Amino acid sequence: MEITASSVIGKPVYDASAVKVGEVKDLVLNPSTGEAFLVIQSRESEKRVPIAQAVIGEIVLLSEHSSRSCPNCGFGRVPADANYCPRCGHPLTHPLQVGQG
Ligand SMILES: [Zn+2]
Repeated sequence: MEITASSVIGKPVYDASAVKVGEVKDLVLNPSTGEAFLVIQSRESEKRVPIAQAVIGEIVLLSEHSSRSCPNCGFGRVPADANYCPRCGHPLTHPLQVGQG
């Protein structure tokens, strides 16, 4: 999916609980890593969120909890409910289950 900065700047930003976080103030690109971040201006502060964690439509929806990283191979798009890493097969525990074996 492609987006343009002008289409996303100024959009309202909501978190995964449908609570408004703020608005998109800017886009930041890192040429050395190829990563893109949304700069989100909230009432108190400003934060950067990797654009891969945002669903951009009529609004911007942050899905920070929809994926996580594999501790074994570092694969960054492991579904939150996966029991095994889709890339390396490393067994994954959910945060609440850490410590059980
Ligand atoms: Zn892995």
